[in-house]
Amino acid sequence: MIVLTTFVAAEPSVPAVAGPGDPEPASLVTLSVPDRAAMERLVASGADLTERVRPQADGSVQVDAVATPSQLAAYAALGATLAPGTPPQAKAKATAAQDQLVIERAVWMKSRDGYFLSVEASSSAGEAATLTVAWKGKGGSTGQAPMVPYVDAGAYLGHQFSTPVPADGRPQWVTVTSAVGGTAEARVKEWPDGEQPDRAGPGYQKDFVTQYMPPAQLNERIKALHQRYPKLTELITLPYPTNGYRRHAQALIGTPPAAAVVITSDAYGSEGGNDLAAELVNPGAPGRPLQVTVNGKLITVSLATDASGAPASTAAQVTAAINATAPNSTGGTGVKATTYRANAGDGVMAPAPLTQLSDFLNAPASVSRAPARVLALRIGAHRDGSRTGVLAYAQEHAREWVAPLVVVEAAERLLRNYTRDKATRRLLERTDVFIVPTVNPDGANYSFYDFNGQRKNMTNHCPAQQSDPALRNTWGVDVNRNYAVGSLSDGYFGASANCQSGTYAGPAEHSEPESRNVMWLAEKHRNIRFAMNVHSYGGYFMWPPGAYRLDGRVTLPRPTAQQEAYFLRSARTIEQAIAAERGTVIWPQQTGPVTDVLYSAAGNSADELWYDHGVYGWDFEVGADLWDPGTRTWQAVGFQPPFAEGHAEALEFVSGLISLVGVAADYREP
Ligand SMILES: [Zn+2]
Repeated sequence: MIVLTTFVAAEPSVPAVAGPGDPEPASLVTLSVPDRAAMERLVASGADLTERVRPQADGSVQVDAVATPSQLAAYAALGATLAPGTPPQAKAKATAAQDQLVIERAVWMKSRDGYFLSVEASSSAGEAATLTVAWKGKGGSTGQAPMVPYVDAGAYLGHQFSTPVPADGRPQWVTVTSAVGGTAEARVKEWPDGEQPDRAGPGYQKDFVTQYMPPAQLNERIKALHQRYPKLTELITLPYPTNGYRRHAQALIGTPPAAAVVITSDAYGSEGGNDLAAELVNPGAPGRPLQVTVNGKLITVSLATDASGAPASTAAQVTAAINATAPNSTGGTGVKATTYRANAGDGVMAPAPLTQLSDFLNAPASVSRAPARVLALRIGAHRDGSRTGVLAYAQEHAREWVAPLVVVEAAERLLRNYTRDKATRRLLERTDVFIVPTVNPDGANYSFYDFNGQRKNMTNHCPAQQSDPALRNTWGVDVNRNYAVGSLSDGYFGASANCQSGTYAGPAEHSEPESRNVMWLAEKHRNIRFAMNVHSYGGYFMWPPGAYRLDGRVTLPRPTAQQEAYFLRSARTIEQAIAAERGTVIWPQQTGPVTDVLYSAAGNSADELWYDHGVYGWDFEVGADLWDPGTRTWQAVGFQPPFAEGHAEALEFVSGLISLVGVAADYREP
C-alpha cells in the first residue's frame, strides 16, 4: 500500500494515548477505485481528495486523499481501497468488429530525466477498446505501451497513457493499434513548444524564498516590499475580515457515547473560554439531588446519588442541569452543554476530576487570534486601471504551503528587477498585478500549528452533534467550493453539503469572507483580465469550465473555439517558461479545462471569474510528479515536501506566472 505522508499531530498537548476528545490521526494516502463512477461516488461522499488523479491500465483510478482510519473504512464501502504499490495491468477485453481510431495528440517531451511520450486517441468502440501505442524514434529507438480508457461521469473521453511513458530516444512516429483491428498513425510533435521566455538580463535577481511561511510572515513580506517600492506598489486591505484563528473552548467529560457530556464556551478560547473548568463530584452521601454550582470560572456538578450513595445522574440530566444553571454565570462567560453526538445520554455519569476547557489551538501567543485582514499587493508603474490587470492568488487551501511562495517570489522578482531588467520594466509598464499571498490565513495557521492536513477555513458551521472536540479537524468551508457560479446549490457536482466534508461548500454561496475578498478584487478592479489561482499538488494547468451537472455530464458553457485556442496557446508559452527552470514539463493530459483533465469542482473561483467577470481564470497545481528512474514510475510530491523540493517547485511555477504576466502585457481587448 502507498501511504505518502502520515500527518503527525503538531500539537505537543496531544496525549500519548488518544482519548475520545482527540481527533483521529489522518494520513495522505493513494486510494484505488475500480472505475471513474466509483471515484464520483467518493467525490459525492465529500472525501478530502487531493488534485492528483491517475487512471490505470485496468480501468481503475488512483487518487490521493487525506483520510482517517474511520474514513478509510467508509471509503472501502464505496469501493475505494489503499492502492497497491504496483499499478494493475490492463484487463483483457472482449473482441468485436474492427474499430476506427483517431489520434488526437501525440507529443514528445524532454524533461530533465530524458524523453517521454504522451498519446491521446479515441476508438469508435469506445471505452471497451484495448489500444496499444508503438513508436519509432531517433537513432532507431522503438517501444510500446498500453493506453487506458478515460471515462468521466459515464462519458468516454478517449484513451491516453496513465502517465507519460519514458522513451529512450525522441519519438518521431506512433502507431496506435486496437485489439479488434483498428489502426492509426501519426507524426509526434513537440510539447509544450510554446514561445521561449524572455531571456533574463545578466543582473536578473531571483530566489527570495527561504522557507515555508505562515500568514504573518507572508504579510510582513509584502508590507516590506511596499515600503521599499512605494512608487511601484500599493497595499490593499481586502474588506472582509476572516473569522480569525480562534475557536470556542470545549471539554468532553465522561465516556462516549451514552455517558458523556460536551461543554462548549460561548466565548472563544482566547477571549475567556480557555479559563473555564468543570468537574463532576460525588457528594458522598445517599439520596442527594443533582446540583450545579458556579464559582467564578469553575463549574461544579454535584451528581445525584441513589439510596446506596452511588452516583445516579445520566448524561442527559447533567446536560440539562448545566444548561439551566451555568449559561450566564461563569464569570460573565456562558457555556452550553450537549450529550455526545446527539446520543440520548442515558448513561450514568461517573465523577470526573477538574477539566480545563480548551480551544486546542497550539500556535504561539504571537499568532493573532483576532479576525484577520487579507492583504493584496498591487504592483505596476501605472496603477490607474488603464493597464491589463493580473490577479495571482494563493492558498485558498490551507495545507498547500508551496502556493504562497509562488506569488511572493513573483512580487519580489517584478519589483527587484524593475530597474535592472528591460523585460521586467516592460511588464510593469504594461500590466497591473494584484498579488494575494494567502486567501485563507486562519486555515493556514491551523495547518502550520495544529493539523497540517487542514484544507478548509476554520469556521465551524456544524450543528452541536457534529461539534465535539474530536471532530475539530473536520470543520470548515472549502473556500474553492464557496463561489457562486456552477455551485452546489446550482446543481453542479463536486462539492458537499456536509459540514465535515473536505469539499464542504458552506451554508450558502459566498458565505465566507475568504471567497468574498477574491471577488471584491475582481469587481473593484475591472481592468483585471487574467487570474491565476495557485494550488498544489499534481502538476496541472487548467481553465474553465470547472464544473458539470452529473446527470448527462452537462458542463458550464465551454469557451468558444477561439477562446479555447487562446487558453491553450497561452498555456504552452507559460509551460515553456516552467520547463526552462529545471526541466519540469506539465503533461498535455493535465493541461486543459478542469472538467476534462481533473474532475468537476462545483463553485470554484476560476469559474466565477470567467463566467461572471470575463477574466481568463487559470489554475496552477504546482508540484508535478517526479520521475523515479529506479522504479521507472512517477512519484507524488505531496502538500509539504521537504523545503528543497518545495522551493524548486515555487521557482519553476513563478517563471510560469511571470510568463502569464507577459501574456497579459501582450493582450489586446478583442
Ligand atoms: Zn487546492
